[in-house]
Amino acid sequence: MLRRILPFAVLGGLAAAGAATAREAPPAYDSATLTALSTIVAAARSSDYAYRRDEFLSDSIGPRLSGSPQAAAAVEYVAAELRKLGLTVRLEPVMVPHWVRGDERAELVDWPGRMADTTQKIVLTALGMSVATPPQGITADVVVVHSFEELTKLGDAVRGKIVLYEVTFDKRLETAGYGGDAYGELVGYRFAGPSAASRLGAVAVLVRSLGGANYRLPHTGSTGYAPGVTPIPAAAVTAEDADLIARLAAQGLVRMHVTLTPKTLPDVPSANVVADLPGSEHPEQVVIVSGHLDSWDLGTGATDDGAGVAQAMGVMAVLHDLGLRPRRTIRCIAWMNEENGAAGGAAYARDEKASIADTVAAIESDSGADAPVGFGTSLSAASAPYLEPVSSALVANSSPHIAFGNPSETDIEPIARLGVPAYAPLQASRTYFDYHHTAADTFDKVDRAGIAANTAVIAALAFALADAVTLPSREPFHDI
Ligand SMILES: [Zn+2]
Repeated sequence: MLRRILPFAVLGGLAAAGAATAREAPPAYDSATLTALSTIVAAARSSDYAYRRDEFLSDSIGPRLSGSPQAAAAVEYVAAELRKLGLTVRLEPVMVPHWVRGDERAELVDWPGRMADTTQKIVLTALGMSVATPPQGITADVVVVHSFEELTKLGDAVRGKIVLYEVTFDKRLETAGYGGDAYGELVGYRFAGPSAASRLGAVAVLVRSLGGANYRLPHTGSTGYAPGVTPIPAAAVTAEDADLIARLAAQGLVRMHVTLTPKTLPDVPSANVVADLPGSEHPEQVVIVSGHLDSWDLGTGATDDGAGVAQAMGVMAVLHDLGLRPRRTIRCIAWMNEENGAAGGAAYARDEKASIADTVAAIESDSGADAPVGFGTSLSAASAPYLEPVSSALVANSSPHIAFGNPSETDIEPIARLGVPAYAPLQASRTYFDYHHTAADTFDKVDRAGIAANTAVIAALAFALADAVTLPSREPFHDI
């Protein structure tokens, strides 16, 4: 997921924009659409369809890293479930990376005050797409930095060393409900940290885990290597172990032995699952509801992003149960490979280039099932007259907030860049990043009422946009 604009911060802007544009507001919805929105919200809130689909993805299939047998099983499962709803289902072929985790062990072998014949275990996990150490591991001194600026100042002093990015997740921001913003502040260290350290001659990189709960759990996540940079092994250490290393390094030399044996195997054919409820008047015009089907391998991908896929499926189930067919097509997509390559979103943008002008909205849910507060949109507050009726219908779901100028989620970003307005449900993110990308992302973390309430947000938004008489204007894509 990407960093969000703080949702509560823009409410004043919403009211002001609504007032300013109310005079010339076009009739965006007819009364039948507005009545249906309330019905949809109530039906989604009382359904456990999404909860049960997430349960199957998490418990019966399990972790679904791209290229794995479980990812393939999840494609078949979701396609079969959507066919049961009478939808037109196809599998869009996507080639995906196939990275597999190996052994991951580390220990401190020397530090200030060490007693003879002792070591200190360090709990870590390889970052996704990391290269391996030699089989016997590497032994090197650890250099602790708190920012890219500090790394750059050290310059040649980093050569031959293991660099630890000791960057601390802002728990106060998470406690206030803005876990995504706390994550967004630091995710660049995980993704770009290995390349920055490699350029200075470092032999490996450790990143303090990005997450809000300290139960000595490492948080994995994708990393990458810039073109021309020597790839070096990279891992996330737990917050506790990062603190330990930093305390000891403040006293003197800390030396570590680390072994990581992941492998990158040849790319594997996989698929996005694409299921249509054809529109009654404009079947060629499409509103996308989506989540990503792949997950990290440590947990079972219950919140990231089984919950998002299940919510998108839940939208289709609610419309099916209510017998509602909007004017435009609603397309449910379960994306493949969000976590370590985003090949699914890229393939769709390539394959659907000719239909982009008719793709009127793309919604992706990729922040779990915490209590929803509303939704974000890449559009500016000029779209307020079109979106306020949806907000009104969501008062009954305690989620009426709209965040304008919100960045796009990963899988829909390629089509957002081509001009498709992007949307996402917004949650009060207080616990999502406690488990994110860890072994603790399991089904017990999914709140039954929360997943239903998030489904209600997406269902109302998708139906409104698919059934609107007139739609908000497209706007150029903004990088955040
Ligand atoms: Zn995700």
